[in-house]
Amino acid sequence: MDYILPHDSYLINLGSPKPDGLEKSRNSFRKEIERCEQLGIKMLNFHPGSHLKMISEDECLDTIGESLNIMLDKTSGVTLLIENTAGQGTNTGYKFEHLAHIIDRVEDKSRIGVCLDTCHTFGAGYELRTEEGFNQTFKSFEEIVGIEYLKGIHLNDSKKEFASRKDRHDSIGDGLIGLDAFRFIMNDARFDAMPIILETPNPDRWADEIKMLYGMIGA
Ligand code: MN
Ligand code: MN
Ligand code: ZN
Repeated sequence: MDYILPHDSYLINLGSPKPDGLEKSRNSFRKEIERCEQLGIKMLNFHPGSHLKMISEDECLDTIGESLNIMLDKTSGVTLLIENTAGQGTNTGYKFEHLAHIIDRVEDKSRIGVCLDTCHTFGAGYELRTEEGFNQTFKSFEEIVGIEYLKGIHLNDSKKEFASRKDRHDSIGDGLIGLDAFRFIMNDARFDAMPIILETPNPDRWADEIKMLYGMIGA
């Protein structure tokens, strides 16, 4: 039960600049948290939110923080994981600073965390392909966000180039990230004891991808 990490609806925008959209998003997100509570699920992954070119990124991040405070106040037992984004369209959450900004606004920090998606991280311009780049990326994460907030991983390769700000998942090994990044993750104790989830596009490949990832341990 500790490693089940559901994903919220893609329609929810907790940083919406539109009052009606914001209210609907908060109501639906609260229902999703309550469903997790009822099922005994301890974590819920969500996308931070989009500014829709109507407010600044900072204002959007403040709104997300406020949304989370309301949600955390009205629910219990479920930790909310902010997923980093590739920064496509008007999405916030593509910089570690955005994640830190939201966490800074949250009053109950015991129920907030981060889920890093490798495809989004790469698309946002954080290097993962070389050992040096990988280490630098996680050093920045530790300095800006704090490794204690990392509570989940989405493992995806990327069809789009480094720093493309595009979110197109690929099967592990087929995309532009390359296998080394996945080997680094599989052998790094910082990613033990957390859900590691594939969101790769071809279900027929999942069994082999999982087998390949386990085969990387110690390799
Ligand atoms: Mn997602
Ligand atoms: Mn993801
Ligand atoms: Zn994605």
